[in-house]
Amino acid sequence: MDEIDCAVIGAGVVGLAVARALALAGREVLVLESEGAIGTGTSSRNSEVIHAGIYYPQGSLKARLCVEGKEMLYAYAAERGVPHQRCGKLIVATLPEQADQLDVIRTKAAANGVGDLTLITAQQAMAMEPQLHCVAALHSPSTGIVDSHSLMLSLLGDLENAGGMLALKSPIVRAECGDGAIVLMAEDGTALRCRSVVNAAGLGAPALARRFEGLPASAVPREYFAKGNYFTLSGRAPFGRLIYPVPEPGGLGVHLTIDLGGQAKFGPDVQWVSSADELVVDPARGEGFYAEVRKYWPALPDGALIPGYAGMRPKISGPGEPAADFMIDRPASHGVPGLVNLFGIESPGLTSSLAIGRHVAGLLADA
Ligand SMILES: Cc1cc2nc3c(=O)[nH]c(=O)nc-3n(C[C@H](O)[C@H](O)[C@H](O)COP(=O)(O)OP(=O)(O)OC[C@H]3O[C@@H](n4cnc5c(N)ncnc54)[C@H](O)[C@@H]3O)c2cc1C
Repeated sequence: MDEIDCAVIGAGVVGLAVARALALAGREVLVLESEGAIGTGTSSRNSEVIHAGIYYPQGSLKARLCVEGKEMLYAYAAERGVPHQRCGKLIVATLPEQADQLDVIRTKAAANGVGDLTLITAQQAMAMEPQLHCVAALHSPSTGIVDSHSLMLSLLGDLENAGGMLALKSPIVRAECGDGAIVLMAEDGTALRCRSVVNAAGLGAPALARRFEGLPASAVPREYFAKGNYFTLSGRAPFGRLIYPVPEPGGLGVHLTIDLGGQAKFGPDVQWVSSADELVVDPARGEGFYAEVRKYWPALPDGALIPGYAGMRPKISGPGEPAADFMIDRPASHGVPGLVNLFGIESPGLTSSLAIGRHVAGLLADA
């Protein structure tokens, strides 16, 4: 049977960042990816926003890893020439009764160590973005955008330079835990004996963990899928900054993001679905988008929104429940030596990826 020190299952941005951190710590690392390319999952179906770390409960992993990850990501992207832009964002109250929420958001952000938000008047906001309508806004100067594919290629380059390897078209179907090692079984029947395993299979992480013999069933959360649909804007982007309404349950509201090519898109909305594969955007949802977007951009022309793409949030809390934190389960919490499971790595997982990598490498330092 083949043997390896560390196997990372999943070559999304988080799996690659974890694998890179392990390889840079001197570990022998193999990334196993079921598809024929890296980053074809949630990592290529998101907003590519570098989040400031504003909304998450104080002390949560999301808050800590987002703030740490943001700083790491800006430094890494600058050093490696990964395209990115610190464009800033405005969180806008469009109704007088929402204005108080901005202060709540600012206080929450400050508790997370994000002390650079400023409350601005409608006049100040509209001076920054003349097409905007709002009654007040919060300006976040440290929010930005990044080219996630360039980032993943760069992480893969680091991994390979540090001696790590990537195996594509290598779906893992089950594992046997115990006996001082974890044996991974690939779909083609190949077995791989590993000292450490990181389950970074994204949307598939809970289902895969349920097929880990020796891992208690109670250690695996129930998964839920919340689809986020995007509509792209035909024509020039009307804003130079990202524009977010005050958050809505389950997501951040239908916001405007721009990519590094200057293309504007709106979304993602929140649509709870029963399968991770439901990724087609229903053009009929556009109607709701017009209404939401016109709250902050009244001049949105009829017919300007085109169905774009959808991403699937790997949720571990269901509709109506409070949003769960990232669940990064270490050996001490589930009892299987050498195993780390990553569950519920939804937004801000892209922003947090380098910090998650460092965190997981630390958890496995003695494994
Ligand atoms: C709509 C939406 C918008 C978002 N916007 C942002 C944002 O603006 N900023 C931000 O910071 N975050 C954002 N996120 C979150 C971010 O995209 C994710 O946290 C991140 O991409 C997760 O990366 P991952 O590597 O964990 O998962 P994935 O990218 O899904 O990678 C998992 C990989 O595992 C592979 N795999 C699955 N099962 C197996 C198996 N059995 N064997 C081998 N391989 C397997 C898959 O093929 C896949 O390549 C957003 C998410 C969504 C859904």
